[in-house]
Amino acid sequence: MDASPTPEPRPFWLAGRPATGSAQQTVTNPYDGRVVGVHSVPTPEQVEQAVAAAHAVRHKAAALPIHVRAEALAHVARRLAERAEEFARLISAENGKPIFWARGEVNRAISTTRFAAEEARRFSGEVMRLDTDPAAQGRLAYITRVPHGPVLAITPFNFPLNLVVHKVAPAIAVGAPVIVKPAPATPLSALALGEILAETDLPEGIFSVLPVPNEQAGQLVDDPRLPVISFTGSGPVGYSIMDRVPRKHVTLELGGNAAAVVLADADLDWAAQRIALFSNYQAGQSCIAVQRVIVEEPVADVFTEKLIAAVEALVTGDPADERTQVGPLISEAAAERVEQWVKEAVAAGARVLTGGTREGTTFAPTVLTDVPRDAKVACEEVFGPVMIVQRVASVDEAFAAVNDSKYGLQAGVFTRNLDIAFRANRELEVGGVVIGDVPSYRADQMPYGGVKQSGVGREGLRSAMHDLTYEKVMILTGL
Ligand code: NAD
Repeated sequence: MDASPTPEPRPFWLAGRPATGSAQQTVTNPYDGRVVGVHSVPTPEQVEQAVAAAHAVRHKAAALPIHVRAEALAHVARRLAERAEEFARLISAENGKPIFWARGEVNRAISTTRFAAEEARRFSGEVMRLDTDPAAQGRLAYITRVPHGPVLAITPFNFPLNLVVHKVAPAIAVGAPVIVKPAPATPLSALALGEILAETDLPEGIFSVLPVPNEQAGQLVDDPRLPVISFTGSGPVGYSIMDRVPRKHVTLELGGNAAAVVLADADLDWAAQRIALFSNYQAGQSCIAVQRVIVEEPVADVFTEKLIAAVEALVTGDPADERTQVGPLISEAAAERVEQWVKEAVAAGARVLTGGTREGTTFAPTVLTDVPRDAKVACEEVFGPVMIVQRVASVDEAFAAVNDSKYGLQAGVFTRNLDIAFRANRELEVGGVVIGDVPSYRADQMPYGGVKQSGVGREGLRSAMHDLTYEKVMILTGL
């Protein structure tokens, strides 16, 4: 029997204040099953109170002076920086993310919040003279962007802090109340962020963090007082939400099976190192992890050799260990699914060049080749440390292979040829093309999102602020 004391349950955040419900939920470390936290679960009545508070404060939030919004965001950035190591350890413990990557996520969350504070200061209006038309003489238009209304932010497990910040920070920047529904496997980082938000001068009701189970999330999704849903997660859940509330303003940041193209003129050592690392970072549980490697025939043998060596050099193991680069998957069920998909591919003719084995929640970094086009590891999102290598005879074939996917988040093209780079930008059906690096590159201020079944709408501070607001015009008469 485990004799270690059960940790004190963390409160959730109801309209900016800590609150406890009638039930508790335990959070475990995916690597070793250790209990890393317990939190209180909101009751339906408390969910109702949070929504009512967000609705009630919406006009006050939209009227908040810009300097108050920017200062609140700057405070969050400062406090995240002060508590960076604590947040990194929390992310690593609840998600199983190696501590090295968890520190990176905290640094990104700090940057995301700083960018939001800067963008808040640039969030201004415009005056348009209407007297260009004789009929409108004496009239003036004052144009601003105003929030659609309170935002429901639904977030996934794989970046439990930064993807929450990517929704909360732009909401504060535009003056919209926000209710966060974090992923059930990783709610602790979002709850800890609530502690920092509660220190700001933002009006009561402007934020809540409600770690409700999925079965209870429909209450939030359906509520008409939350007209905006900003969702990051899997396609089936995202589209089911969109279908459920088709009249709401829904943004979907969904999955992918990102491709990296290695052309014959590429720096093969750099490409091999980057692809090995970014197919396996976070055990492949990133929507832009490299899943499909498309390599031009003349360099395919030598590149594949370098790639296998780089993959085999990765350190897999305990996420708390400073040296670990690849940790566990989020659950045993997730690791078993990845194992099953690899087995199916092998049964259909694929060859395992390295990896392919599972130990509990940890799956070995894996490279497959000769994978049939319709195998799940080729056409679905693996969300595990598995990549497939595909040989092509030309740039035409390479780009056709990238586009041969129902997804379209980002693509990477390793080339030094500027003409091909611009051609990639024209022809690849994705939201972002990364030249000279992996598709997994994301700077937090840039527009980010997908086409096809990878989503609808864009994040990145300025884009998200645009997405959460509409253009409103006031016409002044008699001037
Ligand atoms: P998921 O779809 O299982 O869950 C996402 C969120 O939806 C969680 O908070 C979950 O609790 C919630 N949810 C589940 N059922 C719900 C329901 N019926 N009503 C309301 N909410 C519900 O995804 P996940 O496993 O947490 O995350 C992995 C997925 O997220 C992958 O597909 C990945 O590609 C995607 N993702 C996309 C991006 C992006 O920016 N495009 C970033 C990170 C992750």
